[in-house]
Parts: sequence; C-alpha cells; structure tokens
Amino acid sequence: MLKPWPPQYDPSYLPSPDSPFWSKDAETMDPAERERKIILPKLQAQLKYAYEHSSLYHKKWQSAGIRPEDIRSLADFEKIPFLTKEEIRQDQRENPPFGSNLCIAAKDLARVQGTSGTTGKPTAFGISRGDMQRIAEAHARIMWGFGVRPDDIVFIGSFFSLYWGSWGALLGAERLGAVAFPFGAGVAGQTERAVEWMKEVKPTVFYGTPSYSLYIAERAKERGIDPAKDFNFRILFFSGEPGAGVPSTKKRIEETYGAICIDSGSTAEMSPWMANSECAHRRGMHLWQDIVYAELVDPVTKKRMPYGQEGVTVYTHLERNSQPMIRFWAGDISRWVNDPCPCGRTYPRLPRGIYGRADDMFVVRGENVYPSAIENVIRGIAGFGDEYRIIITREKTMDEMIVQAEYAKGTDPQMIPRLKGTLEGQLKASGLRAVVQMVEPDRLERTEFKAKRVIDKRALYDEITARK
Ligand SMILES: [Zn+2]
Repeated sequence: MLKPWPPQYDPSYLPSPDSPFWSKDAETMDPAERERKIILPKLQAQLKYAYEHSSLYHKKWQSAGIRPEDIRSLADFEKIPFLTKEEIRQDQRENPPFGSNLCIAAKDLARVQGTSGTTGKPTAFGISRGDMQRIAEAHARIMWGFGVRPDDIVFIGSFFSLYWGSWGALLGAERLGAVAFPFGAGVAGQTERAVEWMKEVKPTVFYGTPSYSLYIAERAKERGIDPAKDFNFRILFFSGEPGAGVPSTKKRIEETYGAICIDSGSTAEMSPWMANSECAHRRGMHLWQDIVYAELVDPVTKKRMPYGQEGVTVYTHLERNSQPMIRFWAGDISRWVNDPCPCGRTYPRLPRGIYGRADDMFVVRGENVYPSAIENVIRGIAGFGDEYRIIITREKTMDEMIVQAEYAKGTDPQMIPRLKGTLEGQLKASGLRAVVQMVEPDRLERTEFKAKRVIDKRALYDEITARK
C-alpha cells in the first residue's frame, strides 16, 4: 500500500528549467515496474477508499461480489464493473446534487464545476482542496512535458464558467509558476480584443479550442496581422475538440501560428483531464498512467484491448478523495500503441488522438461517421478555408450527407468547381459519400468554444412525413 494516500505533493517543487521531465523516474520507468511500484498500489488505495467512503461503489461492487482486497493485479482490476455517464446522472438525480460517489462532506468541498448540460441534465463535480492541489500538480507536470516553463505567458482563451477546461489550464499554469493570462471568451467583441492583447502582451502559450484559435487567426489576418510573425506563440495546446489530433488541422494551426500544436484532454469527469496529453514531440497523446489509469476496451466483449488495437476509453482516478471515477466508461474511440516516443517517456500513446468522440458520432445509411474524419480531408486540401458544416437530411427514406465547405479567400472563381470535385473524390476515397456545397468565405458561423458542425435534419423529415 502506498503511503501516504492520497499523495501530498510539495507545492514549492520545480524541476531544473533545462530538464524535459517534471518527474523523470516515474515518466521514464519500465512500464511493468511502474505498474507494480506506482500504479497498482495507488489503485488499491483508491479502491479501498472508495469502497469505504462512497455508497455508490460500496453497493455496486457488493452486488458484483467484489471487494477491494480481491484486486491484486491490474488483470484483476478488469473485474470491477464500469461506471457510465447515465449511472452518474441517475445517481445525482437520486442523491442531489453531487451523487453518492462523493466521499467527503459537501461543506468540505473547495470547488464546484460541472458539465454544460447541452445533452441532458448537467453533471455536478465537487472537488476537495487536496484534489485541487493534485489536479494543479498533474497539469503542471504535463504542461512541463510539452514545454511550458516559468517564464512563459499562458493565454487562456476559453470560457471561465462551469467548464473545467479553462480552470484546469489555469491551475497548471499557476502551479508551474508561469504568468497566467486568464483572458476568457464569449463576451461580445472579445475576439477583436484578443488579437490586440496578443499583439501587445505577446503571450507565448495559448489554450482554447482548435476552432477558436483558427477563428482568432482569421480575424487577425483581416487586420493585416500575421499570427506567425506579429504574435509570439511557441506552444498552443487544446482540449474540448478532437482537432488538435486531426493531422491536417494540426498542420494548419502550426503553420498559421509558427508554433507547436499540442493535443490534450480526456473528459471533464476525469479531471485532471490533461492526463491524456502529447509531449513536445507530438506523436499522439501519452496516457499518463500513474495519474489517471486509462484502458482501451472492446465495446462488445468489454475486455481490455492489446496495444496496436482500437477500443473505447475507460478511465480510473488514482488520487481523488472527493468524487473519484472508477472504470468510468467515457466511450470515445481511439487506438493505442506502446512503441517508444523520442521524448523517452514510457507511457502508451494514442497516435491519432481520440478520433471518435462518443458524443460526436452520427450514423448515415447504417455507417458510423465521425466529424474528425471529414475535417481531416477538408483541411488537408489547399484552397479550403477553416470552416465547414455537415448536414444530414433524409431524401425519401435515404439518408443524405451534405458537406458545406468554405473556400479560401482570394480563390480564383474558375477553381471552385475543381475544388468541389477534389473534396468529393477524397471523401469518397475515405468511404464517405457526400454532396459537397461550396460556400463563400466567412459565410458559416464561427465559434469561441466547441464548434457544432453537424446538423441533423432527419428528425424534422420524420416529423413532417408523420404529419402527412
Ligand atoms: Zn513523448
């Protein structure tokens, strides 16, 4: 058993600025040794704690006939039942507001966060003071890993609200001793002001969504400002959308800003959500397994997948005393590998990021479609702008997918039909049958947060035909 648990981190610790690692031993350890010496003891302590302090887990595991002391290996851990989003919502309805996986008294919480609730009842997160410190420590360590240092200025260009993303970036920046610049987003005129502040203050690190970074760049260019020359960014890191892991979007962001683009983020439930994050070498997100233990499982058999294979994400907290998530079924699709990364870290990686967000998937003619696959095609063709929409309709009884894509500013009108043909051809080659509509620059709506690019009109079709 690891002592003390949960771990207490020294808030004044900083590595030497020229060290690429925050915790070199843990990050570069032989994976089997790390599992034995760090992950398993932390996991066992977390399970014991949850069993004793949360009636949710106590009941759930008891009815599955499992006690924490039965878990003697990471293979045994597969016996623990999954926890789904719907279960959490149901539990919070019955035990409002935080649910019965809250392990401390509500009065001892330090922070309340939550989901935006765009798809159903919002989920409430209660976080203890100790957990806040551990989240800050984890984020600082991972941000260090992708190159942030105390002399950086970290511009946080996203909402400060219930949304965990901005706060997580802020906690990490502050713990690391960088200059935090919590600019926010969402107020009228704020994007124009972001451009001015970026030019004046010269922040070196950006956090937000990939869509928003491209939108800011667009506004800057309209005013004759070149983000690569007139701003001073070295690193842009992202969560909330798959874009930073989509190869052609990553390339576009890196070229636009003349800086590196880092993909990060698991899901809000799992904060420290940065426990999935790329290092400065950008070979896909590392799974920082000694912070949050990630598994990829077969969605049908529910068995853990071998490296090299695709599966859905399941996550487990290893150091949360307030509201731990244990075998949380995030359900996003990815592929994992454990081949070496040039950074020297021995964590497994998701080489293409999380390309199948469970919440983003839609079905057309019986086929699962992920918007990130379409995004990769569009942004990989020179001559297209940054924005696009996917509209799914129903003609008679057949689904129809329409992709509306903006061509780049200054495109020769004679080139437009050729661009359309190129896009249709490349989508078809990727197995996506779509009608392409070419849209003038700046016609599609922009976002300061997560882009809503899929519009499904099939329900409307069904409703109209039902009325007839
Ligand atoms: Zn690496």
